[in-house]
Amino acid sequence: MRILFATSEARPLIKTGGLADVSGALPAALRAIGLDCRVLLPGYPAVLAGARQARPVSRLDGLAGGTVATLLEATMPENGTPLYILDAPELFQREGGPYQDVAGHDHPDNVLRFAVFSQVAARLACSDTPLSWHPEVLHCNDWQTGLAPAYLRLAGHATPTVMTVHNLAYQGIFPPEDMTTVDLPAESFSLNGVEYYGSLSFLKAGLYYADRLTTVSPSYAEEIRLPALGMGMQGLLTTRGDELVGILNGIDTVEWNAASDVHLPYTYTSRALAGKSQCKLKLQQDLNLEPGRDTPLFGVIARLANQKGLDLVLAVAEGILHRGGQIALLGTGEKTLEAAFHDLCAQHPGRVAAVIGYDEGLSHRIEAGSDIFLMPSRFEPCGLNQLYSLRYGTVPIVHATGGLKDTVEDGVTGFVFHEPTPHALWLAVDRALHAYTDPKAWKRMMRAGMSRDFSWEKSAREYETLYRGLVG
Ligand code: ADP
Repeated sequence: MRILFATSEARPLIKTGGLADVSGALPAALRAIGLDCRVLLPGYPAVLAGARQARPVSRLDGLAGGTVATLLEATMPENGTPLYILDAPELFQREGGPYQDVAGHDHPDNVLRFAVFSQVAARLACSDTPLSWHPEVLHCNDWQTGLAPAYLRLAGHATPTVMTVHNLAYQGIFPPEDMTTVDLPAESFSLNGVEYYGSLSFLKAGLYYADRLTTVSPSYAEEIRLPALGMGMQGLLTTRGDELVGILNGIDTVEWNAASDVHLPYTYTSRALAGKSQCKLKLQQDLNLEPGRDTPLFGVIARLANQKGLDLVLAVAEGILHRGGQIALLGTGEKTLEAAFHDLCAQHPGRVAAVIGYDEGLSHRIEAGSDIFLMPSRFEPCGLNQLYSLRYGTVPIVHATGGLKDTVEDGVTGFVFHEPTPHALWLAVDRALHAYTDPKAWKRMMRAGMSRDFSWEKSAREYETLYRGLVG
């Protein structure tokens, strides 16, 4: 079975969040169970520099905005997954991140950039494809590829499409005038089409035109049908409820393996945990925290965004410190949150470390070196850090939402609280601190988490079933 997996980021080439982890691992997991899955990525500088054996295979024209582009064929580093790259220098070869410039502002032409990307995904999946390889299913991911199912359907092509929502909060909304930029027929700007509360929404387009909708955990698939987390899409998602499923993300168990992780100063396993204590001491040293084997060390790694509930962490921080704990945070994002953690760190030298930035190696060292991981997200489609934590014997404290609820067992592998309030988080922290004082029980909890299987194979099989249902 041939699957084209269109995505705007995939690790190790380009990453801003969980989408990249999924796009880096799921296609390889699908290939491992016998599917011919290939990835399509935009040609950002990091992708062009990091892809293996890139060579041009086709020139693409007739795209939105008069864009002329080259399609490159290459392979992903590390796992060798076949890769197509949309090389459109005017759209993708620039400084900054995939969606924002160096100053953190959205690229002003994002509407054109991802319309063209979606157009190319649709073209590769239709009968007019310039490739000799014809995908049987086009799998789109998040708003950046949301127009692809619309282009296919509106041009009368029948290739089945899957739209996966990794985070419903990002909807690709643009003013109605942009309908001319994206080259879609004016009639499609309607309730039964790409229109969303008077604007154009790429995600709405995908949710409306794709044959099947998925999201990244069963609980989130339920939650987004209701107003609280439906972000305005709940009506459409309820109408299409029979075509919406939640498939839990896996994790890359080679990259995240404490027994062989190249980022760690010491390695360990669930049977031989000594290396974890050494990782903790080294982390404390590296982050200028007071050394202490028995000090409960709370790790936090997150995009500093309202979604992640970091204001709740700030609200309980003094309490944690008062009880003898330490906090190690790694994150980047909203300036007010960056400043707040910076201040907390300045006020408590040796007790709080706040590294503002993006650092993959350090994220592994915090996962390994911490005792407890804080993830009080207001909503969480799946969440990966709680899974990395479980695998690394770092007991997670999570809010009962989305994938957090589906993966952490209260009192067995972690601590779950039910209201996103400082008080509820504090009660969970208090329970964790209490449990931490009993080393035997604590180790049992660490090992319970480490024994859980979050490898990709199970999820890959669920996607396979979904694809087979579409192809017949
Ligand atoms: P989201 O996709 O909403 O950001 P996830 O938990 O699904 O949240 O995935 C986040 C991914 O990004 C994880 O792999 C996490 O380790 C990583 N990450 C987030 N912030 C940083 C950072 N500052 N440095 C390194 N890795 C980070």
